[in-house]
Amino acid sequence: MDEAGVSKLQALKVQGEGMIREQALVAGDWVDGQGRIEVEDPAEETVIGHAPKLSAAQVETAVKAASDAFPAWAGMREFERAAILRRWGELIDRDIDGLGALLSLENGKPFAEARGEIGYANQFVKWFAGEAERLNGAWIPSPTAHDRILAMRQPVGPVAAITPWNFPAAMITRKVAPAFAAGCTVVLKPASATPFSALALAALALEAGVPPGVFSVMTGESGVIAPVLTSSPLLRKLSFTGSTGVGRELMAACAPTLKRLSMELGGAAPLIVFEDADLELAVAETVKGKFRCAGQTCVCPNRVYVHVDIYDAFLERLTARVAALKVGAPFEPGAEIGPLIDLKGLEKVEDHVQRTVARGGRVLTGGERHERGGRFFQPTVLDGGDETLFRDEETFGPVVPVFPFRTEEEVIALANASEFGLASYLFSENLNRVMRVAAAIEAGMVGVNVGLMSNAANPFGGVKQSGFGREGSIYGIEEYLQVKAVTLGLRWAMGPKPAPPV
Ligand code: NAP
Repeated sequence: MDEAGVSKLQALKVQGEGMIREQALVAGDWVDGQGRIEVEDPAEETVIGHAPKLSAAQVETAVKAASDAFPAWAGMREFERAAILRRWGELIDRDIDGLGALLSLENGKPFAEARGEIGYANQFVKWFAGEAERLNGAWIPSPTAHDRILAMRQPVGPVAAITPWNFPAAMITRKVAPAFAAGCTVVLKPASATPFSALALAALALEAGVPPGVFSVMTGESGVIAPVLTSSPLLRKLSFTGSTGVGRELMAACAPTLKRLSMELGGAAPLIVFEDADLELAVAETVKGKFRCAGQTCVCPNRVYVHVDIYDAFLERLTARVAALKVGAPFEPGAEIGPLIDLKGLEKVEDHVQRTVARGGRVLTGGERHERGGRFFQPTVLDGGDETLFRDEETFGPVVPVFPFRTEEEVIALANASEFGLASYLFSENLNRVMRVAAAIEAGMVGVNVGLMSNAANPFGGVKQSGFGREGSIYGIEEYLQVKAVTLGLRWAMGPKPAPPV
């Protein structure tokens, strides 16, 4: 990259810093809290700003405001809510560079990837603007003479949303946009590592015309915020994206108030390469899927199974590609792999590599902390070792473990042996095999000859311990709607009513 390109990246970094907003949004007001949390740049390991630690009373204020704002928001014409969502989408497009830079600063992903996430996040805003205009109900014939039934689709009510740090923008719009489209108000708690993207998006939502109280953003300690959200009878639903363990705790906490739930939890995705696959494509897509966000994504392949006949050829090509990946800070020219979010994440990755080697696996490239220090880890390829480790635990880092298999039955059993069931991938040129395996895999999503499949049109979600509910797509809005049945006793005919059925 030339000098102009380098200084453009530095200018973007400054633009991102300028978008840091150190107040939370409570009931339409920007407020301080009772103390502050530090937010770090994972690449430089420096503090980039502070977010307020809200008190339980401030969270209660936001919940009350969401409840008070609900009738007018739910009662607004669907086309008006759609127009506000479209305006929000335009503003996100307007500020895409700054939002991308801000996301890089707090998450550590390379700027180009972070800017791509803003575009992906905005897909949901635009998609659900359209869905708001299609909240059709149903007109249902009745077995009771003279009656007809009208199925109205109405918003579930004010909702709580809790989101993780690995997609600081997309995980928010994937919940908030369908909620707004349906007519729900939202109290959001973003991850403490990445609160600034959420606050910046909320500021744009207000600018777009989202009324005060319809959207509040709670920053601070989950131990203070989550109990208020889960126990409040005013909130009718919780949508959570995060780890399976926390998902279980939240589900239990929501039981007394019988909240509707969406649980987007962890994964340990299998990626299967059959002997009839396009090898180059399979390698390229494995790298794309695995190394986005330094391997810290719930859908990335956690374990790769390759048919014995092509095993060596696959490993050779994969290793060459992975060894060539450029590790760097988000605003460094050409950076492809950023740091891990924190040292705990780095230690987990290191532990997975060490346990693989201890159990007979080999490191083909990488395998250690990166020489630039801090939270950077070398992009790594592992050959063999203990396959059960990678079906039981998410590595959440830039490590791809590869294992050989012989038969279709064997590899389906391996893929399904995990308690998780979020994403899965298979590479084959044989349509019959593709359909057989796709049907047999226990996962919410199957990618066939692709390593990336997240977009607004795709129903995103898991089965088994990866949770339930679907986000994005024509199904995503259902999570925020309930059906009301209105029975209409109609005087169709003027004659006497027939006797009721016995
Ligand atoms: P996490 O620890 O479960 O945290 C997620 C969110 O929950 C954060 O906002 C966090 O707040 C909050 N939280 C943490 N402990 C809590 C508790 N005891 N009670 C209430 N809230 C609590 O997960 P993470 O480490 O941020 O994210 C990584 C996980 O998310 C991985 O397992 C990944 O697979 C999963 N994920 C799933 C999807 C999907 O769509 N299925 C998408 C992305 C990520 P603080 O930040 O303040 O602790």
